[in-house]
Amino acid sequence: MSGTLGIAVIGTGKMGADHVRRLDRRTAGARVAAVADLDGDRVKEIAAGLDGCAAFTDPHAALAAPGVEAVLVASPGPAHEEILLAAIERGLPVLCEKPLTPEPDGALRVMEAEQRAGRRLVQVGFMRRHDAEYEQLKALLATGALGRPLFLHCRHRNASSPSFFTSDMLISDSVVHEVDAARWLLDQEVTAVTVLSPAPSGAAPEGLRDPQLVLLETSGGAIVDVEIFVNCGFGYQVVCEAVGESGSARIGDGQSVLVQSAGRWGGEIAQDYTVRFADAYDRQVRRWVDATRRGRVTGPSAWDGYAAAAVSEAGLAARRTGTRTPVVLAPRPELYA
Ligand code: NAD
Repeated sequence: MSGTLGIAVIGTGKMGADHVRRLDRRTAGARVAAVADLDGDRVKEIAAGLDGCAAFTDPHAALAAPGVEAVLVASPGPAHEEILLAAIERGLPVLCEKPLTPEPDGALRVMEAEQRAGRRLVQVGFMRRHDAEYEQLKALLATGALGRPLFLHCRHRNASSPSFFTSDMLISDSVVHEVDAARWLLDQEVTAVTVLSPAPSGAAPEGLRDPQLVLLETSGGAIVDVEIFVNCGFGYQVVCEAVGESGSARIGDGQSVLVQSAGRWGGEIAQDYTVRFADAYDRQVRRWVDATRRGRVTGPSAWDGYAAAAVSEAGLAARRTGTRTPVVLAPRPELYA
């Protein structure tokens, strides 16, 4: 492909609008050809700021719009499957925000559609794989310098949760990031999940089980513990410490300026994922655009989205039943070998 890649962005809420800005201002070789959102006023406002961008309230119309050659899906998780199947049917490459689908059955249908198409078209927006610190940790683990990994200790904290957030979403929308990161860092599958939760924080909205502690067991015998706390109040924080047989390494402590003044030292804590992971989102989208223009798909696949959804499903069962719940994965199709 020689010209710019025409992209339809589906869903122009917080993430979709951020991706539109990224594609328009910070991504070479791409242009936003169409945007779609059920909210007509919002989508018109977003399109108005872009040259030659068509606005739709029907996401399917956006896929069919002139000049659309690829799709970025940033609608809510439950809406992903329908538009993914439509994009695959049209042979359009897709970058789909996580979760690929909230339930594994939907992800299986997406994989079946790709297999019918005979090629991978879908990349899942697990952007931590494009974060510099995560890349360094992955490279360090691969050298074997820390020995065999025994634990990943993870903390995932948000200042506050959106009003629509449910106790299930702490697992299926938030911990899904740690699930993918753990699978990728360790190159292992998650085999079982246990969930514990203390008495909810007084800062959590009524009825929300926040925080929770999610324990993942992996096929290589490692344990991953994830504290998910989405109303911690003080900021957005994602920390991961890998402990191996001969050393440990930790990322996510923040890289801001260290200030020493008036007998104290400290720095800033990012308030939001769009700040903490800004570079990772940029790199993810640039790499996707570059690969797509070369007719390739290089990022996390529909299989990765499926595996993460299967772990989420086990996690939700583990929380409801209070018991350790095995993860059952379908056989991995040839396309994703
Ligand atoms: P949001 O509620 O801010 O925006 C969603 C938008 O989609 C809304 O404008 C809504 O009107 C629109 N919409 C709803 N159904 C639609 C449909 N069928 N077709 C087109 N548009 C539709 O939500 P958000 O926070 O922007 O999240 C969007 C996606 O991004 C979700 O999958 C979420 O899990 C993901 N997300 C990823 C990250 C990350 O770090 N990678 C962070 C936040 C959210």
